[in-house]
Amino acid sequence: MKEKFYRFMQGRYGVDQFSRFLLILAIVVLILNMFIRSALFELIPFGLLIYTYFRIFSRNLGARSKENQKYLELSGTVKYNLKNGKQLLKFHIYKCPSCGQKIRIPRGKGKIEITCPKCKNKFVKKS
Ligand SMILES: [Zn+2]
Repeated sequence: MKEKFYRFMQGRYGVDQFSRFLLILAIVVLILNMFIRSALFELIPFGLLIYTYFRIFSRNLGARSKENQKYLELSGTVKYNLKNGKQLLKFHIYKCPSCGQKIRIPRGKGKIEITCPKCKNKFVKKS
C-alpha cells in the first residue's frame, strides 16, 4: 500500500508550505462558516481544497514551486509588517502643540517632558 502510494506520487509535486497554508486557510474558513452562514463561506473551503489537491498531485513542478516561492515572499512581507505593527503599538504618537510635528514616545514611562525635535517646544504628556 505504501509502495503504491510512493509510485503514485512519483514525479508529482507533493505538499509544500503554500499547500499547508491553503489547508489551514480552508479549515479556518470552515470554522468561520459555523458562525457566519453564507454560501460564499461554504464554497471557499471547497475551492481551496480542490486547488490544494490539484497542486499536490500536479506534475508541473516548475509552476508549483514558483507559486510556493511567491507565497514565501508574501508571507515574509506580512510577517515583517506584523512585527512592525507590534513595534508601533509600543509607542504613543504625539503632536507638538506649537508646530504640529509628530513625535513618537515609548509607552509606560509615566509623565514625561517631551522636547519637540523641530521647534524645541517643551510639553508634558503621560506616556
Ligand atoms: Zn514643535
